[in-house]
Amino acid sequence: MPKKYAIGFPRIGEQRELKKVLESYWAQNSSFESVKKIASELKQRHWNYQKDSGMSFISSNDFSFYDNMLDMAVTLGAIPKRFRLLKNEELYFSMARGDKNSVAMEMTKWFNTNYHYIVPELSLEDAYKLNATKIVEEYNEALSYGIKTKINIIGPITFIGLSKRIDGGDTYELYHKILPLYEELLGEISKLDSNIIVQVDEPIFVKDLDTKVLSLIKPTYDKLASVSKKLKIAVVTYFENSCEATNILVHTPIDFIGLDFLHGDENLKSLNVLAKSDKKLIAGVVDGRNIWKNDIDKSLKLLENISQIVKKENILISSSCSLLHTPFTLKYEEKMDKEIKSWLSYAVEKLDEISLIATIFFDGEDALSSEEKHLYENNKKANISRRTSPLIHDKNVQQRVENITKLERDGVYEERIKIQKSLLRYKELATTTIGSFPQTTELRAARSEFKNSQITEDEYIAQMKTYIDDCVAFQEECGLEVLVHGEPERNDMVEYFGEQLSGYGFSQNGWVQSYGSRCVKPPFIYGDISRPKPMTVAWITYAQSKTDKIMKGMLTGPVTILNWSFVRDDMDRGNVSKQIALAISDEVNDLQKAGIKIIQVDEAAFKEGYPLRNSKISAYEEWAVRDFKISVSSAKKETQIHTHMCYSEFNDIIKTIEAMDADVISIETARSGNELLKIFAKVAYKQEVGPGVYDIHSPRIPSVDEMVSQIKSLLEVLPKEQIWINPDCGLKTRKWQEVKQSLINMVAAVKIVRKDNFQI
Ligand code: GLN
Ligand code: ZN
Repeated sequence: MPKKYAIGFPRIGEQRELKKVLESYWAQNSSFESVKKIASELKQRHWNYQKDSGMSFISSNDFSFYDNMLDMAVTLGAIPKRFRLLKNEELYFSMARGDKNSVAMEMTKWFNTNYHYIVPELSLEDAYKLNATKIVEEYNEALSYGIKTKINIIGPITFIGLSKRIDGGDTYELYHKILPLYEELLGEISKLDSNIIVQVDEPIFVKDLDTKVLSLIKPTYDKLASVSKKLKIAVVTYFENSCEATNILVHTPIDFIGLDFLHGDENLKSLNVLAKSDKKLIAGVVDGRNIWKNDIDKSLKLLENISQIVKKENILISSSCSLLHTPFTLKYEEKMDKEIKSWLSYAVEKLDEISLIATIFFDGEDALSSEEKHLYENNKKANISRRTSPLIHDKNVQQRVENITKLERDGVYEERIKIQKSLLRYKELATTTIGSFPQTTELRAARSEFKNSQITEDEYIAQMKTYIDDCVAFQEECGLEVLVHGEPERNDMVEYFGEQLSGYGFSQNGWVQSYGSRCVKPPFIYGDISRPKPMTVAWITYAQSKTDKIMKGMLTGPVTILNWSFVRDDMDRGNVSKQIALAISDEVNDLQKAGIKIIQVDEAAFKEGYPLRNSKISAYEEWAVRDFKISVSSAKKETQIHTHMCYSEFNDIIKTIEAMDADVISIETARSGNELLKIFAKVAYKQEVGPGVYDIHSPRIPSVDEMVSQIKSLLEVLPKEQIWINPDCGLKTRKWQEVKQSLINMVAAVKIVRKDNFQI
């Protein structure tokens, strides 16, 4: 039996072809026909890549014009009312992106990845109806190229679990409406061929499910697996262990179970029940979420261990999850250091790894072709070089991390804040912003001209300084109290720091789909992290020299830097984060020595780093809090430390946030009024809080009145001494004209509230 299994493949195209044609179509520069044409070419090319690397299981329906959850909603006829007059592509893209009459459906992160899915909207009164066209067409399309695919779909328990009820209540109450559509779908699929495999993705099985949801697994898969004898069902999970579900699935008539052995090594505990059941095991041993070359010898050892329990003939080799989460191919990385490049593997290269591992595991090394032998040799060499290369291993950093003694700053909060208030003399309801000001076309042009040596460093610096001058002048004029330099020199809050830290690498073409046509190119941490020289001091001190007001220094925190990068897999995440924290603490110290009195350390991605399993949360919190504290440990009592987080739901983690011990935290509450703030009052949160008073994600300019009432509603929850007033995130995506008027209104609103409430 063929043994090489591809769970799923990136669809955006090796040169982001899908992105380009979609955006051109949305801008009305291309027809939908041209989108379809590119899509067909991509699908064909992607199937061939998989076939050429020897995959025996290749998917259809892993392609999507926007998102697979959205595709599933359309397949099930779960169309929100506001879109029901639309049809075909107009319907599809309006659901994804909104149109002039209707807001888009909500989008949220796919488990702990940076991929965003469209959240289906369900309601009891809706009637659902199957539309299997896309699935059938894509299957036939592959067949026309001689490729018989397995069909990927999102499983019912995950689909329902990730949807939202617009009529209130639990989505699982709709189980009895949705499941029959899945049965019908499988019925349709079974007509396509006499022997067909359906891969049902159930990543929700890797979460801690309550007994009610667990109790749905057996009846669901008993039913789905008995729809037709012509079908074989593969239930695939990823990103963590799915032990509880596996224990149940083995008692259903499905054929394959897919487990992630890299991000859920507890899955090894399921091997005994699997072995008894005689199910086929799709073993995820090649990392589908990272960019490192697989250590083939290590994977072979892991597989040997697995085959001590599960019969070898029942094992298939695969990646840990769909390769959607990795960049496409290394082919276009022309500028990268050769040694570093030799350590990497993107989706296309990962297929070769799956193939190589399977051949050696099942047929032995002698069965390798000479080309494969060469690949295997290179793989061994690369892994040895990674273990020993001076590019990665920096003794000084390692020693510093080992010998670290100062884990937190001096003085407790109560003592610090007293000193700070008397030195900094800011008023109650002090006004500030989150850091960035509009990124204009001129700024982007200047940055890219400087990168490509079209302008000199002096010219570049002069342009940035002009921006800072204007930005500071505007803030003074409009009466803001704690100023910022505006972050004109930063392309991105993580990349900017990554570029200046040793141990960080950058790709030219390492794009990964984030949502729809949007892709991100995360930097990667390959080695021990250190800071060769100050990263922000020149800009911040320049800005401070332009004003007598307080200039807030702006840094990104260690946990966010880590969570938005590809991270080396030869070291614990916690240790990598600790190294970054030390680099940031040096920067804090340098800023402080240069006379900067307030420093903000952003932790926008603190919450999204949370593990999927509750049992792993405390370990994460422990190192994440520790490293934030290390990053500001150099701050003197009188230096005020701010942090910023891009969300508002702190209910579960409020004590952890408090333990980070920042003097001030700004958060994103603008869209939720004072509701979400109540948790701060409830736990008697000590530190100061800047709840965003207006939403920066929209171009709308908030009026003075509405911000007055927003501020008043904040005052119902927290005392005025504890509150700062700011927008709810950085302003870099907005236009100057919107920003100016919004901030003028914000300052005016504060003045009114101060006068009305406490005559100051
Ligand atoms: N200081 C950053 C900015 O203002 C923070 C952005 C963020 O939290 N996403 O852009
Ligand atoms: Zn933010």
